[in-house]
Amino acid sequence: MGNFSHAPRCAYQPATDTREQLPASPELVGFSLSWELDYVNILSLLEFLEIPIRAANRTESHPIVFGGGPVLTANPEPFADFFDVILLGDGENLLGDFIEAYKQVRNAERLIQLQHLAQVPGVYVPSLYEVEYYSPDGAIKSIAPALPEIPAQVQKQTYRGNILSASTVVTEKAAWSNIYMVEVVRSCPEMCRFCLASYLTLPFRTASVEASLIPAIERGLQVTDRLGLLGASVTQHPEFETLLDYLSQPKYDGVRLSLASVRTNTVTEKLAQILAKRDTRSLTIAVESGSERLRQIINKKLNNDEIIAAAVNAKAGGLSGIKLYGMVGLPGEEPADIEQTVAMVRDIKKAAPGLRLTLGCSTFVPKAHTPFQWFGVSGDAEKRLKFLEKQLRRDGADFRPESYNWSVIQALISRGDRRLSHLLELVRHYGESLGSYRRAFKELRGKLPEMDFYVHDNWSLEQVLPWSHLQGPLPVATLQKHLAAATALFPQ
Ligand code: SF4
Repeated sequence: MGNFSHAPRCAYQPATDTREQLPASPELVGFSLSWELDYVNILSLLEFLEIPIRAANRTESHPIVFGGGPVLTANPEPFADFFDVILLGDGENLLGDFIEAYKQVRNAERLIQLQHLAQVPGVYVPSLYEVEYYSPDGAIKSIAPALPEIPAQVQKQTYRGNILSASTVVTEKAAWSNIYMVEVVRSCPEMCRFCLASYLTLPFRTASVEASLIPAIERGLQVTDRLGLLGASVTQHPEFETLLDYLSQPKYDGVRLSLASVRTNTVTEKLAQILAKRDTRSLTIAVESGSERLRQIINKKLNNDEIIAAAVNAKAGGLSGIKLYGMVGLPGEEPADIEQTVAMVRDIKKAAPGLRLTLGCSTFVPKAHTPFQWFGVSGDAEKRLKFLEKQLRRDGADFRPESYNWSVIQALISRGDRRLSHLLELVRHYGESLGSYRRAFKELRGKLPEMDFYVHDNWSLEQVLPWSHLQGPLPVATLQKHLAAATALFPQ
């Protein structure tokens, strides 16, 4: 985004796009944060622009630094001290509301500007909230607005239109090289209890085929022949069949189609055939575990027969592989559940011989605004990943574990509070390894809680959460009800 016409000068840059020339002396500088560790690039870019990295050190001569995107919407607190303003929720209307409100106070003093902006729904000004702790390295005691006119709760904003987003840049340098992404659905109605992609973005919304998807696809296919259908659960779009029929037209014969994860029981032979014809070789389905008991705990409405049927259909439709996603360390998990995952993989191999089978596996990481936000990362998770690796490699399955250490860092950031900003400042000079985080914790001992507090401890329901002043789609009482439904199924 360049300058807004009749609007304040505004620098808006993807966090890693540091080489492009920025406008001189911008009034607003904005970042979208989709990956936690991109904060390192944001801080470097602020330094490059000669803007103090901490909001508290900025003066009247500095721009307002604002941020948004999924990482900041989920839990902005570890990064809160770096931003003057954080936009919570969908950007479609919120960005415009923010710019309009800024225009009204463009010539006012910085503090007046911030106080004015803080009254726009979804606009969060961290410096206008005071956080009190029981002790410097203890839990949070309270979070309260610093002034009476500042709202006690900031409500995440939800866009309710039926035109969803699509790529603005297509490049071979992107993580998904040369793919034009079209957002088919937003959120997911399934509400697996650990799932940020569902809980943080509720309600489930679908793009209009006529007004949103077809025009976007036509635009995209003018610049590339690779199309990605994006969304937490794309096959749950009520008109998904219509979309597939549209993409089956002969004029799209050369198009390569990629689908984000699909819901297991929507993998029919027809879907597999269409995908195989569009150069998709394999499908990804998230099964989480081979244990049906554990799937009930996490509210994953899926049974092993459906998973096997999906694999059989994928093979019958001409796909050469299927990729399953699983997780270890889920709340309520027992060693027997891990053994059932091994058994499930064996059963799939037996039912669909010759189909390439991959199991990607991550560690459960608690996420803000989900019913599992109070659980820590399981101390057994690493051992369980190793167990799966040993068993499945022996069976000839392709097992791809996600780094356990990375999960620990993710958990730290996803449950972090403002005190972490000092740690993040240190870590960016030490490197991205878990060892760097441990070193920084040692250096800051006494100034913030131990790493285990954030990562591994189960938090009590009474504890003030770092994001308790930020309202997600569901009230905390509802999240606690969903949590109680899960724990009722825990082994006694
Ligand atoms: S089905 Fe997938 S996207 Fe939907 S809630 Fe469950 S894990 Fe999240």
